[in-house]
Formats: sequence, structure tokens, C-alpha cells
Amino acid sequence: MKIGIILGDQLSLNVPILQHLDKFEDRLVMAELADEATYVKHHKQKIALIFSAMRHFAAGLQDAGWQVDYYCYGDHDFSGFEALLAACYGEAEAVLVTRCGEYRLQQRIDECWEQESGIPVTCLDDSRFLCSPAFFRQWAAGKKQLRMEFFYREMRRYTGLLMEGDEPAGGQWNYDSNNRQPYKGKTPLPPVLHFERDDIDEQVLALVEGHFADHIGSLDDFQWGTTRKQAQQSLDHFIAHRLPHFGDYQDAMVTGEDTLFHSLLSPYINIGLLDPMAVCQAAEQAYYSGEAPLNAVEGFIRQILGWREYVRGIYWLLMPDYEKENRLGNQRPLPAYYWTGETKMHCMAECFRNTIDHAYAHHIQRLMVTGNFALLLGVLPEAICQWYLEVYADAFDWVELPNTLGMVMHADGGYLGSKPYAASGSYINRMSDYCKHCQYNVKTASESDSCPFNSLYWHFIHRHRKQFAGNHRMKMIYGNLNRMDTAKVDAILARAESLLADPDAL
Ligand code: FAD
Ligand code: SF4
Repeated sequence: MKIGIILGDQLSLNVPILQHLDKFEDRLVMAELADEATYVKHHKQKIALIFSAMRHFAAGLQDAGWQVDYYCYGDHDFSGFEALLAACYGEAEAVLVTRCGEYRLQQRIDECWEQESGIPVTCLDDSRFLCSPAFFRQWAAGKKQLRMEFFYREMRRYTGLLMEGDEPAGGQWNYDSNNRQPYKGKTPLPPVLHFERDDIDEQVLALVEGHFADHIGSLDDFQWGTTRKQAQQSLDHFIAHRLPHFGDYQDAMVTGEDTLFHSLLSPYINIGLLDPMAVCQAAEQAYYSGEAPLNAVEGFIRQILGWREYVRGIYWLLMPDYEKENRLGNQRPLPAYYWTGETKMHCMAECFRNTIDHAYAHHIQRLMVTGNFALLLGVLPEAICQWYLEVYADAFDWVELPNTLGMVMHADGGYLGSKPYAASGSYINRMSDYCKHCQYNVKTASESDSCPFNSLYWHFIHRHRKQFAGNHRMKMIYGNLNRMDTAKVDAILARAESLLADPDAL
């Protein structure tokens, strides 16, 4: 008898181990393990989503005739797979597992599973991505600089998505210049999709409340789908109601509106309930059938075919050294309001509220508000990376780490962006209504009530002059700083210094 292990983020019928096992002779093993649930203190909704989706997936496999041994959290004492295999499957001839997403666990599989269980372990390549680590490595080889845009074009050619012969649909690769408007309320907001909770969901929600009470977040407003069917409904809902305006309002932020036209599909794609190619094809189909414009469809497909695959490629290319990068030498701790949400900065409070209540924030909230602030403040990359890994339902190291360490903190020297995404309050004011509701003044930088983003932005530009003054994309910014009146610069820097002395007071 062979054993097939299915991990909590491999809930796909396409995982390769299923093709290598016999449903009548072999056994599948799935387990809710303390090691995985607590290696960081994941948001309660993330644990509930994964446990419930695992239980539903196991039930589906059993209905299809597979023999599944399922270990519920709290019903067993195994903290990791090594101990479980050794105790329960000593007679098995082999263990099969799909290569996992995270370096941490893959390392344990490679180094400990076979040794500690005494059973031969075979790892099969993960087929749930559009670009394998080997393909990415080959693409990256010999290049002086890696840029997502060029990788994305390669992936368009490779998959044929939005291609008309050898040319991109519509004649352009990228329609971002048509995107990114603030939301002024003219286009009605899309309806919200609700799912009925079944017995499995209810049992898991009670279990998480009981065992993980000290983890961040609340389960009161748990709205995630936990089955393949519900994930598919979420995709259909997105294509019908949100995709047509996805591009236009991709960067917009509005008080009290937590999702706007975003898809909320990342957790389902990341745990295997949706296939990334099928998601891209559904969007492509909407373009060809006239249901959504090209700027929206191209922008959406670029996020998945481009950014998602690119960050995974970077992760597997550069780990394990990658996670130690800190090229800007940042050392500050994360202010306490990242956990409590209690801050006078309205933009930050809104993003924290969404995060705590829903284990979700859309990309611009993560990048340009909470991330931008950590960059301006100079937070230790490890601390902010751990925060992002803990607080979102879609968070897995392979995608969170490059986005945070690379895109947000510019700690890797620029694989995710040729310049840091640092921005003052003016950006937030342009893309949202947040500043209208804030007690800080977004128009000033040196007064006692000035927007902290403004003062800290100029401090960041000033303190990193050596690193960035030679960057041609930052020439204008340094030109502006050089032209500023010295007394004005001194006043802004003094205000920033006072904020840096006690960031928790903001
Ligand atoms: P949409 O805006 O609807 O985008 C569509 C899809 O594109 C997403 O579902 C996702 O699969 C993909 N996508 C978009 N941007 C990215 C990106 N930069 N990297 C990878 N995939 C992308 N995404 C995660 O899935 N897990 C994470 O742990 C994660 N951590 C992040 C941390 C930071 C600091 C930042 C700035 C971004 C992070 N992202 C992460 C990327 C992105 O913010 C989320 O994928 C997105 O907000 C999920 O919401 P959505 O499904 O509504 O996305
Ligand atoms: Fe955020 Fe500054 Fe605007 Fe307040 S004024 S909401 S702190 S950007």
C-alpha cells in the first residue's frame, strides 16, 4: 500500500499524486496539524477557511471512492506529518506528496520525512501553476535585470492567453494607462455574494473559536466559500459583476467599501479550489464575448499570469537567502496598531478594520497604505513580512514574501520594482476619500497636524539619497527636494523625527 499526502493548500483534483495512486489499494492522508496552524499566528478566518475546505475536499474524495484518513484538529496528538507517518503507516511501501508551496515545509519534507518515518518519500512537481520553477530559472538565466513585464509577455506567448497570432489582443501588451481611476460613485457597486453555512463550516468555526482565540481577527463576518462549488460561484460572480470595472477602479479606495471591484479569488486559487488557467480563461472569454472591456480583462489576467507567477518564480529562484534581505537596513519594530487597528490615521484604520474583520485587504490597501507606511517608517522587513503572513486569508510564504520584502520594502534591491513604491499622502488622497475623514492635514508636511505620510515620505527620500538619487526614475523627486527651501526641508525633517521618536502615538 502507498500513502498519498494532500496538504491544506493542495485541494485540487489535478494534484499529480492522484494520478500515481490506486484508489482501491492506496490511502490518502489529510491532517489538520498544529505545526501548520501555528507556525505563525494565522488570522482565525484563514484557519477556518483551510480546515473547512480540507474537510469538504476529503468528503468529495471519499464520495469518489478514495480511501481517505482524515485527522481533525484536537482529535490527535501529532504536531507534524513525520510523527503521524511513523505512528500510523509503518507498513506503507511509499509516501507520495506534491511539492509544496513554501520553502519551510519543503525543506522538512526533503530532510526529515523519510528519515523520521522510515518510509520512502517521493515528491511530485506541483502542476497547479502556469510556470514551473525550472521554466522561470531558465527564463531568468543570464539576464542582468529581471522585470515582471517581460516575463508576462513571455507567459502570454507561452499560454496563448489574449494573443491574436503572434500579437497581443488589441495591439498592446498592457492597458494600465486606461486603468486606475478614483471611485466617485457613478458606477453602482457590485452586489455581495453570500454563502449558506453547512454543518462542516459550523463545526470548524466553533473549533477555531475554541482553539485559536488568541489569534488576530474575528469569525463574526466569515464570508469565504469553503467548497469547490462555492469558489466557482465566486469566479462566476466576479466575471459577471466586477470584471467589467476591475481595471477602472483597481487602485481606488473608499471608506466603508472593502472590496470594490476586486475578485476576492486569491484564497481559492492559492489553496487549489480554483485553477489559475481556468480563471484566466474565464476572463478572456468575457472579453471575446463582449461582456468585459480589454483594459479590465488584460489588467486582471496580468495579475495572475504575470504577477502571481512572477513572485513565485522569484521566491523559488532566490530562497533561502531571499528572506534575509534588508538592503535599506531597516530595524524599527511594527507599531502596535497593526494588530489593534487603533490609530488616528484614517487610511490605516480603514485598512486594519478590513484586515481584522475579513482577513482581506485589496492590493492597493496592502501596498500603498499599510505597506507604504512600514517602508516610510523603516520597519524591520522580517517584522512586516510576518504581519502580512499572519493577517490575510490568502497568505502563503511564496507569495507574501516577495510582495512584502520585495515590492513593499524594496529590501531585495529591486526584483519587484525598479524604484520603491514610497508615496506621500497625496497619492492616498488622489485615489481615495480617506483624507476627507482624517484628523491629519494631507496638504501639509511640517505642522503638528500634518499627514504623517507626507513628513515621513520626505524623510525617507532624504535619508536614502545615497541609494536612490542615481535612479533615473527618481530624478524628478530628488530635483524637487533639491529645489525646496532649506528652512522648509528642515521643518519637515524635524516633524518626521518627532513622529519617528514615537510612531505608536499616531
Ligand atoms: P484582485 O485584485 O482581484 O486580483 C486578481 C488576482 O491576481 C488575485 O486573486 C491574485 O491571485 C492575483 N494577484 C494580484 N496581485 C498579485 C500580486 N502582487 N502577487 C501575486 N498575485 C497577485 N497575494 C496573495 O495571494 N497572498 C499573499 O500572501 C499576498 N500578500 C501580499 C502582501 C503585500 C504586501 C502585497 C502588496 C500584496 C500581496 N498579495 C498577496 C498580492 C495581492 O495584494 C493579493 O493577491 C490581492 O489583494 C488578493 O485580492 P483579490 O483576490 O481580490 O485580488
Ligand atoms: Fe492617511 Fe494622511 Fe490622508 Fe490621514 S491625511 S487619511 S494619514 S494619507
